[in-house]
Amino acid sequence: MIVIGGGPAGMMAAGRAAERGARVLLLEKNQTLGVKLLLTGGGRCNLTNATFDDRALLARYGKGGEFLFSSFVQFGTEETIGFFNRRGMATKVEPGNRVFPFSDSARSVLEVLTHYLREGGVEVRSGAAVEALLREENAVVGVRLASGEEIRAGAVVLAAGGASRPETGSSGDAFAMLRALGVAVNTERSALVPVAVKEEWVKDVQGISLDDAKATVFVDGKKELQGRGKLLFTHFGLSGPLILKMSRSIGELLSYGSVVIRIDLMPQREIGALREFLHELLRGEAINKTIKNALATLMPSALVDVVLATANTAADVPCHSVTREQRHAIAEAIKGLPLSTMHLLGLEKAIVSSGGIDLLEVDQKTMRVRSHDGLYVVGDVLDIDRPSGGFSLQVCWTTGWVAGNMVPCKV
Ligand SMILES: Cc1cc2nc3c(=O)[nH]c(=O)nc-3n(C[C@H](O)[C@H](O)[C@H](O)COP(=O)(O)OP(=O)(O)OC[C@H]3O[C@@H](n4cnc5c(N)ncnc54)[C@H](O)[C@@H]3O)c2cc1C
Repeated sequence: MIVIGGGPAGMMAAGRAAERGARVLLLEKNQTLGVKLLLTGGGRCNLTNATFDDRALLARYGKGGEFLFSSFVQFGTEETIGFFNRRGMATKVEPGNRVFPFSDSARSVLEVLTHYLREGGVEVRSGAAVEALLREENAVVGVRLASGEEIRAGAVVLAAGGASRPETGSSGDAFAMLRALGVAVNTERSALVPVAVKEEWVKDVQGISLDDAKATVFVDGKKELQGRGKLLFTHFGLSGPLILKMSRSIGELLSYGSVVIRIDLMPQREIGALREFLHELLRGEAINKTIKNALATLMPSALVDVVLATANTAADVPCHSVTREQRHAIAEAIKGLPLSTMHLLGLEKAIVSSGGIDLLEVDQKTMRVRSHDGLYVVGDVLDIDRPSGGFSLQVCWTTGWVAGNMVPCKV
């Protein structure tokens, strides 16, 4: 059997099949396994959600819940926690039922999985990018690597991830391979949409547009994404080409934790240069003005109010009385106005997936692609919406285990 992709779902599928006695070859295009896994939960890996009531759990996946029912019966959240605990990785539960390794390190999760692979004798080939699935009539019989090499197998598990964060290796290859077989893949939800935020002050600055702003996106305090361009404040939040371009990624990040976008109103100046510039402005020509009037020469006055409120500085302080600390706080606010993202607008739900194989194409008891014998799909390849809280990785453990448990052993 061949597994394409050494992420959480692929490692689980490979390990489980090998445990059952199958000869397994795991092909990974990166040099190392689990690159994205190591990023999860801000490097701490929120590996599942301790929701043990099946109905409550399935409800979290929207329409995908129905599809997942029979696989969760086989391998659910309890089995996941047991799997890692039995292999020496202690876990802890944090608010929202989020389960983390006791070590607070995603590496502990990866170590359990790589040990599982070694234990079962799985052959791992890294630096091996699969280019295509080999088909004979209605069966998948192997793979062709980018090097041209062809490898045949009785079963192929496609665990190459979705299309988000291509730098981690999951760059949509799985979708292309499935489409080449004529299998339906949904990606239409990758729409360009504005972003709604919690802060009420956006209403006061609605209509203001910045030709050159920088947006940096943090998930649970960790920097994940950055872009630069034209930004527009609206009555509900943020829009403009910069935000629309980033919206798909922001939508996905919302599935993994709390998202804060910091807006740099003056990306042309580094923080040090900006502090220096403000120092000269406030001590020079603007010395007898109020700080609000001085800053209004740099940006629209409604935005000045927001900057001053963020920097905890009264608008009517004369420039000569502005302290060094206040000046620094103003510079920080200009370089990173924080906005808590709530959801994307124009989508019914606050969560999106990057799309995936249409669930109607997949047998929910086995993860086999109905139209092609010998082909199984797991993890992010599946088109399932996942809220934040460990639900995404749980899909990987469940579907990976089920596929590994279902492929015939002599392959
Ligand atoms: C920043 C961030 C934080 C997250 N935090 C959490 C969290 O805390 N909890 C949670 O539940 N989920 C989280 N997720 C989601 C979680 O990471 C994914 O659901 C999970 O990694 C999907 O696993 P996978 O095995 O399906 O795919 P991936 O992890 O994407 O792995 C796919 C693998 O296949 C390889 N591959 C791709 N194409 C080929 C090819 N052609 N040939 C060979 N190999 C190939 C890739 O290199 C990659 O190693 C987070 C995601 C991100 C981006």
